[in-house]
Amino acid sequence: MAPLTRIGLAGLAVMGQNLALNIAEKGFPISVYNRTTLKVDETVERAKQEGDLPLYGFHDPESFVKSIQKPRVIIILVKAGAPVDQTIKTLSVYMEKGDCIIDGGNEWYENTERREKALAELGLLYLGMGVSGGEDGARHGPSLMPGGSGNFVKMVHNGIEYGDMQLIAEAYDVLKSVGKLTNEELCQVFSEWNKGELLSFLIEITADIFGVKDDKGEGYLVDKVLDKTGMKGTGKWTVQQAAELSVAAPTIASSLDGRFLSGLKEERVEAAKVFKSSGIRDMLADQVVDKEKLIHDVRQALYASKICSYAQGMNLIRAKSAEKGWDLKLGQLTRIWKGGCIIRAVFLDRIKKAYDRNPNLPNLLVDPEFAKEIIERQSAWRRVVSIAINSGISTPGMSSSLAYFDTYRRSKLPANLVQAQRDYFGAHTYERIDIDGSFHTEWFKIA
Ligand code: NAP
Repeated sequence: MAPLTRIGLAGLAVMGQNLALNIAEKGFPISVYNRTTLKVDETVERAKQEGDLPLYGFHDPESFVKSIQKPRVIIILVKAGAPVDQTIKTLSVYMEKGDCIIDGGNEWYENTERREKALAELGLLYLGMGVSGGEDGARHGPSLMPGGSGNFVKMVHNGIEYGDMQLIAEAYDVLKSVGKLTNEELCQVFSEWNKGELLSFLIEITADIFGVKDDKGEGYLVDKVLDKTGMKGTGKWTVQQAAELSVAAPTIASSLDGRFLSGLKEERVEAAKVFKSSGIRDMLADQVVDKEKLIHDVRQALYASKICSYAQGMNLIRAKSAEKGWDLKLGQLTRIWKGGCIIRAVFLDRIKKAYDRNPNLPNLLVDPEFAKEIIERQSAWRRVVSIAINSGISTPGMSSSLAYFDTYRRSKLPANLVQAQRDYFGAHTYERIDIDGSFHTEWFKIA
């Protein structure tokens, strides 16, 4: 009889298969299981090929569970939602008091809380653990976000990832459409940017993408990819949570809207015909720009917008942590994101330092170092947004980030008028700047 293994993993698609091989490679004998048994055999075969790793495959849930040493720990990596409940049901009948299930999927945190309670009644432990890094991260070292808040933190990580990708795509659009940069030039620009303050996994892979030739035809592959973005739900949840918690997250929300609008390809093709003669195309064609200056400005705009996007994500985590009493340390979270995950970047060190300097920082924008960086960049940022608007190029991420900054930094907003309107039609009352108390005015009688 084979010796008992240290850990089990159920769900052998991209993430599960690679994480199981990673764990085995680190010397922990692991049992693996998948609903469709073909994937079990595939994983066992890979384990053999990748160095006879201590990985053992099982075709039935009972022998899988019983092959793991007690108290058992089983990671599940299946599609979020009902598949997780089904997998728990399948496995838990063979598990015993004190055993533990860790869900590594992109799960809605309330589902995790529900399962935690239900399994506690059976004497089983349950933990949500966000995993980021995609295929390569899972195989060689993912970013793990374990704990009662793990799924929530991973969800916001993904929201921030949406923001980063949108901002990079806008930088690309402005450089390509306004600056007329070729793919070779874009590859060089992004490679250069990856040596400085923007150094990150996403900038690195963007540079790589511009260098890939189409293997099925002429030119570059990126130009043949359909401009329609997919999504699995974590970005939408992030924006829903921001609304629930009354946290402004316009950069992340605009990246979600960007994905929705990208999905309307057929409608956009028709709309382009309606607005064909509106003069926008001609304006772009006639535009003479200083390429070097544009590249410099876009770099500044991208970085300043990124600060706003992360400020929103961190504020969202802090608000949820306060609501749930999680006591999350924002600086520590950015440390977890430093390795393995999709948003890994040198920039995260700066965020950690900002929270080290002041753990109660109300907003990253007012950290002295970030404030200085924003001030240095704001002219370039405004130039990029202006040139994009005047060229008919949408930059929702950069524009909404700038609007977020301009709203947050102003001590006086036109909200006085909104409040007066509310009082006019709904007697919602208002406060005054000069006298304490709550006031109501019969505006229409006076007017
Ligand atoms: P996936 O495509 O999200 O899910 C496929 C896996 O789910 C397969 O093992 C499949 O089993 C199983 N499954 C689906 N329905 C099931 C059911 N009703 N009962 C039992 N098992 C069921 O796989 P993935 O991309 O590897 O992701 C796994 C989890 O990690 C997801 O929550 C995902 O959101 C998250 N995640 C993914 C990435 C990524 O880059 N892909 C990164 C971070 C986190 P069968 O083979 O039997 O169909």
